[in-house]
Amino acid sequence: MAKETKCPHCGVWTTTDNNECDSCGKLLQPDRSEEIERMKNFKPLDIPLLEIPEDDPWYLKAVKHVIRTGQAIFLAIASVLVYLASGVAH
Ligand SMILES: [Zn+2]
Repeated sequence: MAKETKCPHCGVWTTTDNNECDSCGKLLQPDRSEEIERMKNFKPLDIPLLEIPEDDPWYLKAVKHVIRTGQAIFLAIASVLVYLASGVAH
């Protein structure tokens, strides 16, 4: 049974018996592992959320809440990317 692989060059899912993309003809394997390696080194989940001390003035809390919401959204997107990258790895 052939394995479906997503081409890192053109993004087309291709069924491979060899190591080449059916669509663009470039090699699938070397660049793909390189990309996974890059994703492993990129650790967005290690970024701590901004702390909001109780004794901060209200306007500072408001600003920090906005920043923290942005961080939470970024972390959510980052986890999806990490999930997709690990999915490609298998
Ligand atoms: Zn391709």
